[in-house]
Amino acid sequence: MKRVAIVGYFLEVNSFSPVTTEAGFRALCHLTGDEVAEELRKEASVLPLEVTAFARALDELESWEPVPISVLAATPGGPVEQAFYDTWLADVRRRLEAAGPLDGIYVANHGAGAATQDLDSDGTLYALVRDVVGPGVPIVATLDLHANVSERMVDMADVMITYRTNPHVDQRERAEEAARAMVELWAGVRPETAFIRLPICPPSITLLTSEGPYADLIRFGQEARDERILNVSIFGNFTFSDLPKNGITVLVTARGDRAAAQALCLRIAEKGWAERHRYQRDLTSIDDAVAGARARSDDATIPPRIYADVADNPGSGGSGRNVSLLEALHAAGATGVVCGVFHDPALAAEAHSLGEGATFEAVFNRDREDEFVKRFSAPARVLKLHDGTVVGRRGNRRGRIMPHGPSCLLELGGICVAVSSNRLQTYDPAQFEMFGVDVAEARTVVVKSRGHFRAGFDEFFPPDRIDEIDAPGLSSPVLSRFPFRHLPRPVYPLDEGAMWAPPAW
Ligand SMILES: [Zn+2]
Repeated sequence: MKRVAIVGYFLEVNSFSPVTTEAGFRALCHLTGDEVAEELRKEASVLPLEVTAFARALDELESWEPVPISVLAATPGGPVEQAFYDTWLADVRRRLEAAGPLDGIYVANHGAGAATQDLDSDGTLYALVRDVVGPGVPIVATLDLHANVSERMVDMADVMITYRTNPHVDQRERAEEAARAMVELWAGVRPETAFIRLPICPPSITLLTSEGPYADLIRFGQEARDERILNVSIFGNFTFSDLPKNGITVLVTARGDRAAAQALCLRIAEKGWAERHRYQRDLTSIDDAVAGARARSDDATIPPRIYADVADNPGSGGSGRNVSLLEALHAAGATGVVCGVFHDPALAAEAHSLGEGATFEAVFNRDREDEFVKRFSAPARVLKLHDGTVVGRRGNRRGRIMPHGPSCLLELGGICVAVSSNRLQTYDPAQFEMFGVDVAEARTVVVKSRGHFRAGFDEFFPPDRIDEIDAPGLSSPVLSRFPFRHLPRPVYPLDEGAMWAPPAW
């Protein structure tokens, strides 16, 4: 019976966002030992999908016993508070040391983490795991495609496997691939890895995988695989992490054949570099967005559209509190608008104390203001209250619990606004449907999301009914607005003169 330890660490850091504290993990997923074991076998779990999928996949392949260590996940935000992260790492070390002999480690990892004093917090975790188990025990990791990959992560892990879809809907397949890789390593396959980081830090909205340069690069890499290659992973990176290790990264793992890994890695990197100028997209101005919403309010024959408030995406570290678009739509008298999910615990609590049907002056952001978070107030009615726990029904969050905390649906003129107590990206129509909203009836839908909404709302809005709005916020695709400090400069597209040369292996 193989014994496999399971460790999870999910944090996507936007270095311009407020520090992520223990409370941020407690609100989403902070489980250890037996708590992980219990969630591992549930149908709808709070665990990241790849953790449960890995366990089910290995069930099919091997007689094995999970040794659950700890799984930590928060909504994307600022760097994790160092003291909390150090405490968590110490607990992981203690549990690994107490686990007895292990045959493998599965690290379920986002990979775009950072701590307030550790710019490679993911690498620190990998090094800790390797230090405890020694060189002979396989470490297999799955990562988000927005991961920022360090040399140390590559050195410490045997195999690293990233998603190939954005919106991310292939966690299950990648976890199954990780389970198969683990079995191959047990059978004696020796992984040989080649790794190239390109000086390209694109805005996330250019990293879709249905079409565009990143989609083409991933397809190229997969089609170029042969039986010598165990895995091809092409990481898009998460530019807002603002780290020295940022950049599109190609990682090829071969079965014992280093030359094969290097040759394919180089071919992919050269294509990626040659096509760097394709990582650009145009946004829709707030004025144009408001004019469109007004026109649809007055003319029912114009098809509905969805607006992505990409600059204030909680899934990229945005506050979920920016009111620029809401305020403009409200001022213009747009109707038939469904908008959310705003993060405002005080407003949600007030709605709950007033009750459904109450009318009041809704004050957004009464307890917090900064560059992107401004106060906004308007007469409102409480349409619906909800405890905020809902299971996703489509795309990225299908079958997973989304814990919004106490939530409400408010009516402000012709606009319905969903408000939650926890900060979550808007992934799924279920986040409006829990309030009784019929998304198909809306003339305009506004979502706090960069891209994952595409996999949830595509039944209502195909790609040609989507507008990405140029509002202010911590996740704006207009990278020149941000005071980056740690990115490896020069870097494309911020610096037109960025240079790259193939490595001298
Ligand atoms: Zn991602």
